[in-house]
Amino acid sequence: MRKHNFSAGPSVLPVPVLEELRDNMVDYQGTGLSLIEVSHRGKDYDAVHQDALDRLRKELAVPESHKILLLAGGATLQFSMVPMNLLKPGGSADIVVSGSWAKKAIDDLKKLGTANVLYDGKENNYTDLPDPASITASDGASYLHITSNETIGGVQWKSFPRTGAVPMVADMSSDILSRPIDVSQFGLIYAGAQKNMGPAGVTVVIIRDDVLERCADLPAYLSYKIHADKDSLYNTPPVFAVYALDLVMKWVEAQGGVAGIENTNAKKAARVYGVVDANPEFYRCPVNPAVRSPMNVVFRLPSEELEKQFIAESVQEGMVGLKGHRSVGGIRASLYNALPLESAEALARFMEEFVRTNG
Ligand SMILES: *Cc1c(COP(=O)(O)O)cnc(C)c1O
Repeated sequence: MRKHNFSAGPSVLPVPVLEELRDNMVDYQGTGLSLIEVSHRGKDYDAVHQDALDRLRKELAVPESHKILLLAGGATLQFSMVPMNLLKPGGSADIVVSGSWAKKAIDDLKKLGTANVLYDGKENNYTDLPDPASITASDGASYLHITSNETIGGVQWKSFPRTGAVPMVADMSSDILSRPIDVSQFGLIYAGAQKNMGPAGVTVVIIRDDVLERCADLPAYLSYKIHADKDSLYNTPPVFAVYALDLVMKWVEAQGGVAGIENTNAKKAARVYGVVDANPEFYRCPVNPAVRSPMNVVFRLPSEELEKQFIAESVQEGMVGLKGHRSVGGIRASLYNALPLESAEALARFMEEFVRTNG
C-alpha cells in the first residue's frame, strides 16, 4: 500500500510515472538496454532530452525569448551560478530575504559581489512577504532575486514585483508548475526538480536571451552560455532524472496542464487550511493568510508534546513527512502537484479527529 507522502523534498511522484520507470528500467522500450546504460548522444536518450525540453516549454508557456537548460548541481548550485554569470564586474544584486532559501542565496551572492537587501522578513520571523509594489530595483543592480515559494516558512508570492530594466531572477524550486506564471516577466528562473518535476538530479534553468548574452565568460560547467549553445549536452546530463522529468511532464499534460494542476492544488490547500482555520484554539498557522503557500502548509499545535503525538499517530495512519523542518519545528504538510487530493483529504480528516480527541 502506498503511503500518503507529505515529504518536503524529495517528494511524492505520480504513480503512473513510477510504474513507467519500473516497466522500462531493464529493457527500455524493447531496445534490450536500459536508458541509463546507453550514450547520452544516442537517438534514444536524445529523443527523451528534446521531448523533456519541448514539454517544459509548452506546459510552462516559455516564450521563444527564453532558453531552457537542464543542469546538475541542484538549486543550490544556482545560488552561486547566478551571481557568477549575471553580476557585472564589481557589481551588486538586489535580494528579497524571505526565509531560509533566500538566506542561502544571499550567503553565496555575498561571496561574489555586493548584496542590496530590499526586504528582510526577520522581524516577522519570515511569516510574511513584502507588497510586490513596494519592491523597486536599485539603479545599476545586475539583477533582483526572489524566492517564489519558501519551502520551510510556507510563504508564497501571489504576484511579482515589476523590476523594469533590471532582470528578475526567481528560485521556483518548490512551486514551479503548480500555477500558471508569466515567464516573460523573468530574466531567469531556476528550480530543482525534486519537488514538482521529478527526482533529484536535474535542475531546470530558464534564461532570457538578452540576459544570456550578458553572461560572464566562465569555466565550462559554470557557464550558462556553454550549456545553452550545446542544448544542455555539453557534458553528460543527469539522464535518469531527465527521463523521469519527461514522464512527469506527460503526466502534467494529462492533468489538464498547469491550470488543471492549480485547480487541484487549490482544493488540497483549502481542505487543509480549512481545518486549521476552523480550529483556531488548537491549530495555528503563523503565516499571513494573504501569502500562505498551497505547497507547504505549516502549522503549530498547542504544545510540542501534542505535536510529537500528532506525528506519531499520523505515521500509524500511513502518513509520512509531516514533521516540520528542524529549524522551525511544528508540522509541515507539503502538498506538491503529485500529492493526490485523497491524501490531502485523509490528512484533513485526521486533523479533525485529532482535535476531537485531544482538543
Ligand atoms: C529544495 C530547495 C532548494 C535546494 O535545492 P537542492 O536541489 O537541494 O539544491 C532551493 N530553493 C528552494 C526554494 C527549495 O525548496
